Formats: sequence, C-alpha cells, structure tokens
Amino acid sequence: MDFEALKLSKQILQALVELNYKKPTPIQEQIIPKILAGQDVLGIAPTGTGKTAAFILPILRKLNFAQGENPRALIFVPTRELAVQVYDNAVELSKYTDLRCCKLIGGVGKQSQIKEVSAGIDIIIATPGRFMDIYAQGVIFLKKIDTLVLDEADKMMDMGFLPQLNKILEIIPAKRQNLLFSATFHPKVEELTEEFLDFPIKVEIEPEKVVVDLVDQYVYHVPNARTKLNLLVHLLENESEYQRVLIFARTRETAENIHRYLNRKEVGKWKAIHANKGQNTRLNAYKEFSEGKIRGVVATDVAARGIDVSAVSHVINFDAPVMYTDYVHRVGRTGRAENEGVAITFVSEVEQYHIDKIQDLIRQKIKVLEIPEEVEVCNSTYDEKQAFAREIDRQKRKEDPSYKGAFHEKKKAKKSQPNKPSRKTIQAYKFITEDAKKKKKKGGKNTKRKK
Ligand code: AMP
Repeated sequence: MDFEALKLSKQILQALVELNYKKPTPIQEQIIPKILAGQDVLGIAPTGTGKTAAFILPILRKLNFAQGENPRALIFVPTRELAVQVYDNAVELSKYTDLRCCKLIGGVGKQSQIKEVSAGIDIIIATPGRFMDIYAQGVIFLKKIDTLVLDEADKMMDMGFLPQLNKILEIIPAKRQNLLFSATFHPKVEELTEEFLDFPIKVEIEPEKVVVDLVDQYVYHVPNARTKLNLLVHLLENESEYQRVLIFARTRETAENIHRYLNRKEVGKWKAIHANKGQNTRLNAYKEFSEGKIRGVVATDVAARGIDVSAVSHVINFDAPVMYTDYVHRVGRTGRAENEGVAITFVSEVEQYHIDKIQDLIRQKIKVLEIPEEVEVCNSTYDEKQAFAREIDRQKRKEDPSYKGAFHEKKKAKKSQPNKPSRKTIQAYKFITEDAKKKKKKGGKNTKRKK
C-alpha cells in the first residue's frame, strides 16, 4: 500500500514526499483508514513504529484547513520531550496546509504559549499539567474539540496523570473521537480504555515484531561496572561503526559518571540527559545529537522518551532495564522506521534475571557475544560480590517465597524490605569514577575546613 491509497490530501502527500516517507508503516496502514472513518481507536504500538504519524496524518486530513479561533484537536503526551517530537512531526506534516499547531509544555515561559493559543489554533499538543495551567487562565475554549488523543497512555498512568486526564474529560465535549496509544496493554491502560473509548477498534503492533524486524540485538555478560566501562570504551574506539550512539543508564548518577568518563577517554563528545538537567540543556543536547555535533548521549529512561534521532547507529544499555517495557522503548530508539540498528546490553550476573524476563516479553533469545580479549576484565570488589549475592537471593525469593536463601546474613535480610534492594546493594553496585572520587575528596576537605 502507498500513501495515495489512504485518501490523504495533496498538501499532505507533498509533505510526505519531502520527508522521504515512501510507504506507510504497518500501524499507519491499519489505523489511518479507521481514524478517517471516525472510529475510536486503541493503538498498541511502541515507539519507532511510526505511531505518531499514524494519528497526526488523519487528524490533518480531517481538519483540512485552519478554521476559527478555537482548537479542534487535543493531543496529550506524558513528557515535554515527546511533546516536542509530536509537535515537530505535526509541523512537518502540515507544512503545506495552513493548519496551526502549538505545544503547551512546562519548563518554558507560559506567556508565549498563552499568546499563541489566543491568536487562534487548530491543534494543541500538551502535557496534562501545563494544559490545565493554561486552561485555568481562561484562554482556551474547548467547545470545538472533536478529536482527543492520549499518546503513551501507559507512561501517563505510570506518571500519575489519571486525575488530570479525568478533569480534562469533564471539560471537553462528550461527542468526539478518541484515540489512545500505548506501548503496552497493561491493566491500568485496559481500565482507561473502558472509561475513555467508545466501542474502539484495537490495532496491535507487537513489540517483538518491531524488535525482530529492525534491530540486531546482542548481550555481553560483563561481571561488574568497572569492566562495563572498559568494554564500552573498547567498543566506542571503533568510530566507523559506532557513529551515533545512545547509551542508557538506570540512574542519573550513573549517566552523569559515564558521560564524564567517556569525555575524559576522548572517544568523541558526549552529553548526559536526565531529570536533573534543565529543559533547555536537554533540548540542546537532542539537537546537537541529531545534527551530529556530538557523538552520543547518555540518558536515563524517562529523559530519553521522545528523542527522535533517525540514524542512531547503536543503543547501548549500560544497565539492563528493570522496567521491561523500557527495553522495547530503548531499543526502539535505533532501527527507527526504515533504518537498521544495533542494540547492545551489558548484563552482569545480577541482571541476568532481568534479561530473562525481557526475553520472555519480546519472545526472543538475544544473541550473546564474548567480551573481546583486549578488554581488561576487572575483579569484582568484596562489597560488589556481597551485594550481588544478596540481590540474587532476593530475586530467588521473589520467584519462590519459600526459598530460604543461600546467603548467610538471613537475619539481616529479614529486617530489610523484601522488594527493595538494600542500600548496601545500591552502594556496591555504583561505580565510582575518578571524577566522583575527586569530588568526594574535595567535598570531604571542605566540610572539614568548615568545621
Ligand atoms: P514514531 O514511532 O512515531 O516515534 O516514529 C519513528 C520514526 O519513524 C520517526 O523518526 C518518524 O519520522 C519516522 N517515520 C514515521 N512514519 C514513517 C514512514 N512511513 N516512513 C519512513 N519514516 C517514518
């Protein structure tokens, strides 16, 4: 099928040619006709499938041209980065129409957004919090809304947006078309679907299909954080292959440490993005990354939502994600649309548990690669070994509550919270880079002096 068959307007087709979208992706092929027919749709599709254009294109077709002052389509997304991505996509696709889009997101001034909305708008792309903020100013009139989109609904539920969404549902016209997109169909999304959609058509693009089709996935068994750093630098020394790399870390501190370490090792320029970074810093990092001004970005999961950089050559999971659907999201950052990509995950003994679950989710075995001989494999420290043993015990207990545990400190384990890794576990797993060490020393001296 090609885009002509989808009954889009000439102006939209022209924009598609310019964007070099040659044919609809499977989700676009299935969903666009249903949206144009006016049905409520539930789209289960991870990022990287072309799901954004799957709802933007028919909305542009339905709205056709600018009309009046008041918005007619509302698109809600969980994060600012995703709002920027959806907005950019909408602007590109509507380039040859006179439709007006705006994004209402936090982290930037409200006034310009209020001005933009007041000047007359057709499509609003927003995070729920900022939308309600601006709505409260009395500048948005919602009586013309006839399409409502909730994108990444699973993430919205995880981030606790349900009360705000319920409020929004109260203030928009009841007669409208609803479109809900989610990477997964977990029980909370199912609940939301019942409340929010009217006899919906469900279109599901399975994650494993996306992963299988577009991305080569590999795992390295790496004993500890120090060795992970050595392996990472070794891989990145291959500049011709590892051109544009996105590295994922579980915590902000790890992301920060990795990016400093890489900059010191002179394997290209790197930036870190995580929740502690300001909105502008993050947007700049995305921009520099997509323009190829830096070689890569080290990100945490939430911060990386919405990064839309085609031609990411490699995704490297420095840590295996503990939220297993995040694996699909992370991997979906490479191999986007028609590009092929590579995803590599570093897996320590403790993380094997998570990678097994991830393999169940994607219904696929990930190929294991041997650590190259040139890479120095460091011994785990005593603390690391203890922490790993404790964590493995915890995992086994989780699977089988009657498991007594091989680890000798059973009494202590009883005291600790069974579902949380102990502080010692976290401490031991954190690697301290030279930078962090220096910082520590400095900090120590300062405190002493103050005393
Ligand atoms: P999404 O799943 O919406 O995050 O889209 C993933 C990427 O695919 C984005 O970079 C889009 O610009 C791109 N894309 C979407 N639809 C197509 C298409 N039909 N052909 C080529 N690229 C596309």
